[in-house]
Amino acid sequence: MISRALRDQLDGRVLTSGDVEYDEARGLFNGAIDIRPSMIAQCAHARDVRTALTFARDGGLPIAVRSGGHGVTGACLVEDGLVIDMRMLGAVTVDPVARTATVGGGALWTHVDRACQPHGLATTGGRASTTGVAGLTLGGGSGWLERAYGLTSDNLLSVDLVTAAGELVTASTTEHPDLFWALHGGGGNFGIATSFTFRLHPVERVTAVLLLWPADRGRQAAGRFRDVFAEAPDHAGGAMLFLTGPPRQFAPAELAGRHCFGALVTYLGPEDEARRLIAPLLELDPPGGLIAEMPYADLQSALDDPPGMRNHWSSDYLAALPDAALDAYRASAERMIVPSASQYQLVPWGGAVARGAGTSPMADREAAWVVHQVGMWEGAENDERGREWVRQTRDAMRPWTTGATYLNFIGDEGADRVLAGFGPANHARLSAIKAEYDPDNVFNRWHNVPPKQRPVPA
Ligand SMILES: Cc1cc2nc3c(=O)[nH]c(=O)nc-3n(C[C@H](O)[C@H](O)[C@H](O)COP(=O)(O)OP(=O)(O)OC[C@H]3O[C@@H](n4cnc5c(N)ncnc54)[C@H](O)[C@@H]3O)c2cc1C
Repeated sequence: MISRALRDQLDGRVLTSGDVEYDEARGLFNGAIDIRPSMIAQCAHARDVRTALTFARDGGLPIAVRSGGHGVTGACLVEDGLVIDMRMLGAVTVDPVARTATVGGGALWTHVDRACQPHGLATTGGRASTTGVAGLTLGGGSGWLERAYGLTSDNLLSVDLVTAAGELVTASTTEHPDLFWALHGGGGNFGIATSFTFRLHPVERVTAVLLLWPADRGRQAAGRFRDVFAEAPDHAGGAMLFLTGPPRQFAPAELAGRHCFGALVTYLGPEDEARRLIAPLLELDPPGGLIAEMPYADLQSALDDPPGMRNHWSSDYLAALPDAALDAYRASAERMIVPSASQYQLVPWGGAVARGAGTSPMADREAAWVVHQVGMWEGAENDERGREWVRQTRDAMRPWTTGATYLNFIGDEGADRVLAGFGPANHARLSAIKAEYDPDNVFNRWHNVPPKQRPVPA
């Protein structure tokens, strides 16, 4: 049996549809995805990764690489192919003196945040503790600390990677520098990351703010949120969003389960300073919410989204947010599914994100705002309604978009949108790097950058 041949070569495990753990191992955050790989190789270390990859290539099997399973398109699984499951490579080692963390290629953000917290250190990580470090980082990495410390990938010092040819290389500013550049947003196109080393920053406690209003007061609060962030220091991050009112610990009974507007602010400093920053929002007497100082790692796990919902996402960058854009935002929020876990977010960029423009493959990092439609609902019968809402909101905000997008925040929207994520010049450079490290396009499941065609010899 083919799976037996691989089992004999790995220290980790190989699961097939006959194994009781198979269904759990192919389960993803997005409950709408149902992909049945022929084998799932749960790799124990980098050597297993190379072995599984070589086995798949020799056998002509398509491969996918899985870490946190949060990619909304299900690109970490492949029908009838081999999944290289990285989750056993989850170790995190912190060097508090050098202020670095070395993180296994299958770790989740909770592992990183919890390991760094005792040292009062952190790096920009995803906003949900259960997201994989690998998928998020390789796609760029947006998080609460980004305006102060840049995107997650800006904090990379090196990446250990198994290439399509099965070689283990280290990419950094001094080794394979082109490949290292590509790993700052080029996603899973270039190889299998077995380890990341990140720069850390002093981040002990943060002030977390979540203010809630009924949705019909959202337009006014959105204007205040925009104005607060026009002046906010880089050590303030956040998002405004339309959402279903959360449970009682965050919202009074009259808001729970109803269409609401929320203002989320994360402030790297004490509560009294945060209150001064958000005073214009507090003047609007939000009927719900909380303001609390907490350890950063607690903030990171406080807002975890529910797994297993049906997800459909999109995103665009906005050049500016004039009043007309906020009117369109408010009006297009009206048709979101309520109650549901859906969120309609506007995330302020700027600060270190903008300062990093030109240093990574990602297009338009100077964008002022990111609009992010997070469609999350239950029941296949709601799919068309949810998808239609995402389409309509994209149309509504189109007059203010820059034309670029953040690929970690979108579903499978075609080659033009992959181009929009990078821009033509960066896309061409990525394609040339792809030709060097993966000429046969083995890693083709994430937003694919095809290898540049080599000239046919005369
Ligand atoms: C609830 C939720 C919250 C999110 N919040 C944020 C956020 O705050 N900021 C943000 O930027 N994004 C966020 N995302 C998007 C997230 O960054 C992407 O979906 C990312 O791809 C998830 O990575 P993963 O490892 O969990 O996913 P997976 O589905 O396991 O992997 C996604 C893709 O990454 C590649 N990949 C995975 N592991 C490896 C590896 N070791 N080596 C090489 N390639 C690999 C593969 O191509 C794979 O197809 C969120 C997603 C969800 C569902």
